[in-house]
Amino acid sequence: MTVGIVGAGITGLALAHHLDKGEVEYVVLEADDEPGGVIRSGRVNGYLLEWGPQRLRRTNPVDELITDLGLDDEVIEAGDTKLFVYANGALRRAPFSIEEFGHTDLLSWRGKLDVLKEPQTAPAEPDETAAKLFTRKFGEEVYENLLGPLFGGTYGSEPERMPVEHALSGVMKLEQKYGSLLEPALKRAMAGGTSAPAISFEEGVQTLPETLYDAHAENVRLETPVTEVRETEDGYVLETDAEEFAVNEVVVTTPAAVSADLLATLAPTAASALERLNYNPLALVHLRADCDRDGFGYQVRNDEGLDTLGVSWNASMFGRDGVYTVFLGGMRNPELVEEDDETLGSIAATEFEKVMDAEADVLNVARLRRGFPAYDTSWDALDEVRMPEGVHLATNYTARMGVPSRIREARQLAESLANRA
Ligand SMILES: Cc1cc2nc3c(=O)[nH]c(=O)nc-3n(C[C@H](O)[C@H](O)[C@H](O)COP(=O)(O)OP(=O)(O)OC[C@H]3O[C@@H](n4cnc5c(N)ncnc54)[C@H](O)[C@@H]3O)c2cc1C
Repeated sequence: MTVGIVGAGITGLALAHHLDKGEVEYVVLEADDEPGGVIRSGRVNGYLLEWGPQRLRRTNPVDELITDLGLDDEVIEAGDTKLFVYANGALRRAPFSIEEFGHTDLLSWRGKLDVLKEPQTAPAEPDETAAKLFTRKFGEEVYENLLGPLFGGTYGSEPERMPVEHALSGVMKLEQKYGSLLEPALKRAMAGGTSAPAISFEEGVQTLPETLYDAHAENVRLETPVTEVRETEDGYVLETDAEEFAVNEVVVTTPAAVSADLLATLAPTAASALERLNYNPLALVHLRADCDRDGFGYQVRNDEGLDTLGVSWNASMFGRDGVYTVFLGGMRNPELVEEDDETLGSIAATEFEKVMDAEADVLNVARLRRGFPAYDTSWDALDEVRMPEGVHLATNYTARMGVPSRIREARQLAESLANRA
């Protein structure tokens, strides 16, 4: 059996790696001239910048890959999770343990006590918004000052426009398991709020897909965009401009709009549904500044009058020479992404200077017109996505967008494909 994988982002390459371990034949076809998809690291004027993920969590599936690839010596750990929210004109530390919750100045005592009422609230409804769920379960202040900025910031999104069934499916499962959300949150907080450590690599996050590519290069074709997936009598053909690749099973890991194009003839209903999925456009502005603050960065509360969604402190997380990454645009302000580089750079630097009280120089401005999955009501279209037998979708519209989740899904899919071989 041969598996044809479309896309050499982290999903396609992790899938290739696990198929290889299971001794299943495969070929990966990638449009771009380098591996990694949205994971992009590189140097500008000597500064190491990230244009995709700024960090990833070293969960078990990530750890397994690192060990398999012999990358341990290149891993850099960010230390304790120390995130801030810019609220009421100052940076305030977000709490992840009971002690931090007691001390945080992000919440009043009344706001903190509201959280205790959560077990008495009604369970999550799939079609209510994330904002409504957070507010009715934990109170307005916890939503406005803590959960709204952290959750909305992670996706460059507006929780007011994200239905729970798309945005918080994992939270619903937790609630079903424990009967409340407070219980698992308390368990985690009592363990010191620990989760898998945040990591990067000496030369940036792209080291991971690049090393995967190096390990499996004989089965990965770069600069080979697939133009169509076609059915044949004994399987499928991946069409490219130069060549056709006959395969038995197909895994499509491309962004939704590309997948829609590739599958338009083979699965027209699914293709037109995929085309409707919204993504949030983003602008990333990399700044250079001298600051002595320690932590991961900050998200901005909605009503602070800033365009900045959040800032990643690459400098303190991974010792990246005064580098800070500012996120602009998102669901809140998509038009902003269309402004010219000078305007975006100036907004990012001015707002950074206000929040961090430090001068900043612009190193680089970049745009991602399809940045984070919006997980808004356009994602209802997923109900219409059915694939023919032997064709599989695997990327941020089939499970969560985070790199650990992408790797976990790739591993599970490799196991199920190996069982079919
Ligand atoms: C700005 C940003 C910040 C992020 N931050 C974090 C973070 O901090 N932590 C975290 O865990 N996750 C983060 N994520 C999410 C995570 O990085 C992505 O969800 C994940 O990398 C997506 O990987 P993928 O392989 O599924 O898709 P992609 O990376 O989109 O890969 C798809 C591949 O398909 C290729 N392709 C496209 N068209 C064709 C074609 N016709 N033929 C062949 N190949 C094609 C593309 O070139 C690409 O290489 C972030 C994402 C973004 C955009």
